[in-house]
Formats: sequence, C-alpha cells, structure tokens
Amino acid sequence: MYRTHNCGELTRKDIGREVILSGWIQKIRNFGSLFFLDIRDYFGITQLILYKELVKKAFFLGRECLIQVKGKVIERSSKNLNIPTGEIEISVCHINLLNPSLSPPFTIDNKTDGNEEIRMIYRYLDIRRNPIKNNLIIRHNLTLETRNFLSKNGFLEVETPILINYTPEGARSFIVPSRTHVDKFYALAQSPQLFKQLLMIGGIDKYFQIVKCFRDEDSRSDRQIEFTQIDCEMSFVEVHDVLAFFEHFIKHIFRKIKNIELDSFPCISYSDAIKMYGTDSPDTRFGMSFVELNDLIKKIDINWLKKEELVVGIKVNEYENIHEKIDFFLKKIENKNFFWIKYLHDKTLISSNQNFLSKKILKIFIEYFKALPGDLLFFSYGEKIKTREELGKIRLKIANFFNLKKYEIFNPLWIIDIPLLEWEEKSKKYKSVHHPFTSPKEEDIHLLENNPKGIRSKSYDLIINGIEIGSGSIRIHNKNIQNLIFKHLGLSKKEIKSRFGFFIKAFEYGIPPHGGIAFGLDRLINLLERHTNIKDFIAFPKSNYGKDLMIDAPSFLEKEKLKELHLPY
Ligand code: ASP
Repeated sequence: MYRTHNCGELTRKDIGREVILSGWIQKIRNFGSLFFLDIRDYFGITQLILYKELVKKAFFLGRECLIQVKGKVIERSSKNLNIPTGEIEISVCHINLLNPSLSPPFTIDNKTDGNEEIRMIYRYLDIRRNPIKNNLIIRHNLTLETRNFLSKNGFLEVETPILINYTPEGARSFIVPSRTHVDKFYALAQSPQLFKQLLMIGGIDKYFQIVKCFRDEDSRSDRQIEFTQIDCEMSFVEVHDVLAFFEHFIKHIFRKIKNIELDSFPCISYSDAIKMYGTDSPDTRFGMSFVELNDLIKKIDINWLKKEELVVGIKVNEYENIHEKIDFFLKKIENKNFFWIKYLHDKTLISSNQNFLSKKILKIFIEYFKALPGDLLFFSYGEKIKTREELGKIRLKIANFFNLKKYEIFNPLWIIDIPLLEWEEKSKKYKSVHHPFTSPKEEDIHLLENNPKGIRSKSYDLIINGIEIGSGSIRIHNKNIQNLIFKHLGLSKKEIKSRFGFFIKAFEYGIPPHGGIAFGLDRLINLLERHTNIKDFIAFPKSNYGKDLMIDAPSFLEKEKLKELHLPY
C-alpha cells in the first residue's frame, strides 16, 4: 500500500493514528539530530519529523525526491493555521525512497524563481506548483459547469472532425499531408463551423462542443495556435434568442465560478462603439466616452480646427489627484493631432497649445464638457477613422496610466450590427468580417452591388472589459444568398463547387434557420481569474513563437518520412 491518507487530509482529529503517506519533498530543515521535512502531493502538504537513525537515512534526500513514510500523527508544537494540516505532524518510524529526484531547475513553490521558458521546458514540475495546479482545477470546474448547463438546456455535445479540408476562415490553417492520397492534404479545423451548421441541417436542434481549434497565427499572451472553444449552435433562432440565452450562460458561469452577479449586458452597435470608444471591443469600466465636437467648433472662433473632418474629446475626472505623474504621461503620448486642457483646482486653465487656444476657447470647452476643477480634457482631430482609432488607444493608455481599469469590475456587453464585409487592400477583394456563412441583415442586402461595406451582418461579439470573449452569428440559410456572398468574396463558381459543394448541396434539403456562437475558453478563464496570460490555464502551452519547448515541437522529419508523405526531401 502506497498510502493510507493523502498529504492534505490529516488534522488534529487524527492525532494518535498510524498512517502511511507518499509525497514529494518540498522542504528540508536540518537541525542536526532532528529533521523536519514537508512532503507534498496533489492534495496538500504534511510536515514530517524524523529523529536519530532516520535522520541518517534522510541525510541524502533532496527536494522533489519521492518518499513514502510510515508514522504516527502527533500534535505540532508550532502550529501553522494557514494550511489544513498545520496543527499536526507525522513522527516518522519508517522511510522509503520511492524515487530519487535531480535538484529541480527552479523553486517548486507558490512563488518561483523560474522564468517562463524554463518552466515551460519542465512544465510537469511547474504543474506541481499550486498556482498552476489550481488553474487546472478551475479550468476543470469551468468546463464541468459548461457541460452541465448546456446539457440541462437541451444542447447535445457532438464531436466533429479535426482533420478536414482547407476553408478560408480568416486565419491560416495548419496543413497535414496525406500519406495514402498522394499530393493531397488535410487541414486542421480552425473551428467546427461548417460541421455544426451541418448538424443543424441534420436536425440536432442544439449542439455544443468543448473543442480544440487550430490557427496558424503568431501566438501572443492572449492567443495560442491551438486553443479551446466552447462552440455552440442552435436551430430556429434569431439574434435576440442567441444573445438572451448566452447572456444567461455567462451569468451562470460567473455566479458558479466566481460568485459574481453580473448586470444585464447592454447591446452596442458596432458603429456606436467605434464612435464612442474608437474600437469594436470597448472596455467600459472607466467612462471616458468620446464627445464629438464638430458642431461646437463650427460655432466658435477656432478657425484652425474648422476644416478637420472630426474633432473629438474625452474627459478624465479628477486627474489632479495624481498630478505629479501627468506631465510625464502627456509627454509620452504627444502627437501633432492632439491637444489637452488642464483645469487646475485653483481654477486656472492650462493647455498644450497656448498659442492656438485662447482663454475664451478653453472656457468654452470646459463648459461644454461640464468639467470640474481637477479634470483634464484630451482632444484629437483629423481624418475620422484614424482620429477615432488614435483617441481609442490614448483612452486605454490613460486608463492604464491612471489605474482606472478596476480589477473587481466586470463589464460585459454585446457588439451587434457588425459590418458583413471589409475591403482587403492586399488581395483587392472583399473579405468577411466574421466568416462567409454569416447572414447579412435582410434590410441591407440591397447594398451588395453598390455599397458592400455598408451591409450590416447578423453577427455579434461578447466583449468583457475590452476583451473579445465570444463571437458568433445567425447563418445564411438560403442557397442563393450564400452563393451571392461567396461570389462577392471573389470565389469563382468552380471554387465554390470544389470547396463548398457539399455544403451548398445540404442547403437543398430543408436547412433550418440557425445561428450560434463560440467562446474562447482559455480567454474566459484568464479573464475570470484576472490573469494576463492564457498560458497559465493551459496544461502544456506553446511559447509565443508557437513552440512546445518541452517536447521541442515543431521538429524536422527524416528523409524517409518526407518520402512517405510525398513531400520534397
Ligand atoms: N466559428 C466561429 C469562430 O470560430 C464562431 C461562430 O460563428 O460560431 O469564430
């Protein structure tokens, strides 16, 4: 028997009990004739006390050696009430080395001295640390809650293929050469998109899958080349049905995992989001929405701004409390299409542009923004799109700089009415903003010929604190519209047939109206736990360069293998 108990369960009620424990040595304290060892397993840590000849046996043991001990539970003289086993220790009578260990390359404790690279090379050792282990437990709990919730609500979990054909979905696919079919290739699924739609055609009403997806893109702290989606699809739904149900789902997850009650999720149209925040994924925890000033500018004596396509400003409340930092910050974001006004507590007004902004003008702006002493105003002007984008970035910088991104707040919102198509300069073609299967809004279809960029789609994104957590759409369920969209994406009849023939064929058999969404599981947990790196929640993540540092993937293939796969060697 390796153990009668685990290292996290013995407490003062077990005092006097004979026990056997197994665990890795976390800490050794050597007092000459007396040794204290802490041993650790998945469940916790227990302190051991070794006397006399056992000390000699233990002398050669080091951190991370795996030992088995037999002994008696006794009361500890100096207690540690921070851990469940902190009131007892084991007086060891027998010690057995189950497996020795090399000295670990970094400290295996809650705080570690190992950098990310070394911890990824020895990920199995990193997983022994509580922060990583606990993250995996949280992930387990989240997926369990998800499965239970969706199953209870009539969703069926169905697995869809990973090895599929290449389909254009916005990102690059990983390609897998076929050994048995010379010169042919599979692609790894970027998402189960077409399959979940085919399941709806198959009459599966509501589907979900917690599924690995693969995209050959540069990894970042919030993106991995293989990642997990909570992928869902429903039949006979419109946009509001999907939003209502998944708002319910996200609220349930926050309640169960974090004990947080979320308020209703506001819906903001894409164009309003851009106008108010300069981005389609706004972080709304810290006000500062844009105020457009062109109408005001027309009426006041400030000629140098009159010709600008857009003049827009934001107000930062009570900046003066953190006054000493502000000049440094303003220097950092200086740009020529930008100016600021400080309204000091003593009511003096200072601006970045003393020569061009008269005292009278400053006062007009202060009144227009209803600014109070201590507030700060930022302005940006120029060409519409660029100005909004730039002020959007500045807004985020201000929030970071002044610590306005309140850690305890979660602000979810839906972005709706997202454009269907965008122009891609490189390929000189229109490209789907979401994907080619997204339905346009019926009332906008007529714009397809003359103003494709103006078409709004039935897609939606769930944004929480400025992070895209999910996105989806109502799908096209009409063969002619689907073909029309393919055509506008620059696909020839032949290409449509070869890539999507099977899909279009399925449209002929009574395709139901349907729609769905996919949530990024790694991102969702990262957000819930307020981390900034999704790797923390993935057991074996890839590095930022898409490498698995532990197994050293990707790697070269031997000539023989290349030959077998019909690849040049
Ligand atoms: N398949 C889509 C994606 O991966 C999500 C969806 O439209 O349901 O972004």
